[in-house]
Amino acid sequence: MCERWEALGQAGEDVSAVIPGREGHGCPTVFLDRDGTINEEVNYLHRPEDLHLLPGAAEAIRLWNEAGFRVVVVTNQAGVARGYYSEADVEALHQYMNQVLGEKGAHIDGFYYCPHHPEHGIGAYRVQCHCRKPETGMFEAADRDCPVDREHSYMVGDKWLDTQAGARFGLRTVLVGTGYGAGLYEELLEQKAAGSDSAAGSDSAVGADSAVGSDSAVGSVSAEHPMDFYAGNLLAAARWILDRERK
Ligand SMILES: [Zn+2]
Repeated sequence: MCERWEALGQAGEDVSAVIPGREGHGCPTVFLDRDGTINEEVNYLHRPEDLHLLPGAAEAIRLWNEAGFRVVVVTNQAGVARGYYSEADVEALHQYMNQVLGEKGAHIDGFYYCPHHPEHGIGAYRVQCHCRKPETGMFEAADRDCPVDREHSYMVGDKWLDTQAGARFGLRTVLVGTGYGAGLYEELLEQKAAGSDSAAGSDSAVGADSAVGSDSAVGSVSAEHPMDFYAGNLLAAARWILDRERK
């Protein structure tokens, strides 16, 4: 049980004032992909000097921090499996990320990474693991460390494997238009019949909860392309999630 959860449990009334509807079944948690979602997509990022936060990312994380969400990173790091860098490099980068975020009043509460790859891993890293997204092992690890209130928790990422993993774990999911997200979203819309109203906007709701029609036309709740919301970037994702939770 994490300290944070114990603190939330003791301050139940205060927490429910921030997050209405919370009934004490765990921490409302925002799970975030890392590369292409929080920071610029860089091939096999591992050097601190190559870490560049995306516009609005620190503010988004700060908003979640202030609203009482636990913010957790879940990231596939096949570069470890391939021998390009070590687990110590990953951990050092995460420490540095929190240092940079800290300067902007934001912080990540937990980092989980998968160092494996089923085909390209070297030695013990070559394994069909349960942690590599779209599998849910990292979410389960986070849930063991600090129970997740799935009703009020989200997964945000720029790839379908992110939203697939989040949906499998029972979370609402947001695809962000940074990293690979905009291209994937465009591809999805092109695959669907043209002429749907939701094809235009950048921060349009297209999921099951969408007030805009054509949710089935977008196919956003399919197993292959799960997505409750498409957001231009992490800050737009934060605004949608906070609006949703405050209703
Ligand atoms: Zn793994």
